[in-house]
Amino acid sequence: MINHSEMVRALAKNGEIIAQEIDGDDAHLMHMAVGVSGEAGELLDAIKKKVIYRKPLNMENVLEELGDIEFYMEGLRQGIGVTRDECLAANIAKLGKRYEGMQYTDKAAQVRADKA
Ligand SMILES: [Mg+2]
Repeated sequence: MINHSEMVRALAKNGEIIAQEIDGDDAHLMHMAVGVSGEAGELLDAIKKKVIYRKPLNMENVLEELGDIEFYMEGLRQGIGVTRDECLAANIAKLGKRYEGMQYTDKAAQVRADKA
């Protein structure tokens, strides 16, 4: 039986091949997507300090991280050629399908009608 370490070594795509295959557009998308995730982690840490450590919310830091997230999200949207308005419209359409009459219910959240 294969152990976990061997499995990862066998299945993880070779970094040299990835580097050969990607172009500048791909690098931009990866940069922006990693940026969204990293900044989301920074925002989460700011919220953790308030909720778990019971410190006052550092609004200056929260605004900074929200702005950083917006930066990377806009860069990602530009990279794939969609606008913020298109994303918001898609989100409204999705949640309108999930929540009949735009009313939250636990059942609708569990059923996720938009995914059926
Ligand atoms: Mg930041």
